[in-house]
Amino acid sequence: MQYITLCNGVELPMIGYGTFMIKDSALCEKCVTDALETGCRLFDTAASYENEAAIGRALRSSGLPRKEWSVTTKLWIQDAGYDDTLRAFEHSMDAVGLDYIDLYLIHQPFGDYYGAWRAMERLYHEGAVRAIGVSNFPPERLVDLCMNQEIKPMVNQIEIHPFFQQNTALRVMEDYGVIPQAWGPFSEGQCNIFRQKILTKIAEKHRKTTAQVILRWHLQRGIPTIPKTVHKERMLENMDVFDFELTAKEMESIAGMDIGHSEIIDHHCFCTARQLNSVKIHG
Ligand code: NAP
Repeated sequence: MQYITLCNGVELPMIGYGTFMIKDSALCEKCVTDALETGCRLFDTAASYENEAAIGRALRSSGLPRKEWSVTTKLWIQDAGYDDTLRAFEHSMDAVGLDYIDLYLIHQPFGDYYGAWRAMERLYHEGAVRAIGVSNFPPERLVDLCMNQEIKPMVNQIEIHPFFQQNTALRVMEDYGVIPQAWGPFSEGQCNIFRQKILTKIAEKHRKTTAQVILRWHLQRGIPTIPKTVHKERMLENMDVFDFELTAKEMESIAGMDIGHSEIIDHHCFCTARQLNSVKIHG
């Protein structure tokens, strides 16, 4: 495994494990146990995924020392604001059953995220979290937060894959020392990504799968990522990407797949703000 170092010195694996949509507790526990067995040591969840407790159970019962694995969780919009964030954090901590969280993110750039950020700064100073960051923050909101708060987000977890390469956002993050982390590294499997000719040709040449080529492309761009799969053989496949290298020409041909926008979600659209603000995860 390769690691990336955040601005405060915390190291996170370049490849972790995503758990979006794995709501069934038994399945989720099994998946996390399988992922640990394949060598994965970073687990991404969120209050809104309804699986923090299952992930915590699987990690706690693994027998592995706490320092050997990391957990990310996220604050939902409904709990933005200073006091609500502190309350939501306690709730997440009770659910995962851990003494600290490795990375705590503001899930969406909506609601009172300035109040939320100040609460996160407090949690960071108190040692309840090893690192804090945001998710889905477009460049303008990220820069505004960076320029007006004591601590800059250490991570911005955003959608990145061959169809949506986010070059401008990445440049802005680099300017502010914010580490990008790719969600949806396979475009959630959409647009027939695993059968794209450019990728299948490269995969054939290296005797790898298209999924491995995509993850290798992320790695060579220096972007950590958190692919999700419920299949153990795919977990193994997704971890087995450190023994080959894409050529500059291959990287260039994948660069040509960028369509410059998301087919999954548009964070600039008012309808997204309306839809996400309507999602309530508790009464
Ligand atoms: P993704 O990882 O891009 O794609 C998951 C899809 O790819 C699933 O259908 C999975 O199928 C398939 N897959 C995985 N490995 C494969 C392989 N080796 N070969 C073929 N198919 C494979 O999508 P994602 O789950 O949306 O994103 C990853 C993680 O990012 C999430 O789980 C979540 O933790 C995080 N995320 C964060 C946000 C945010 O707003 N911050 C949004 C979305 C996701 P199977 O499961 O059937 O194998």
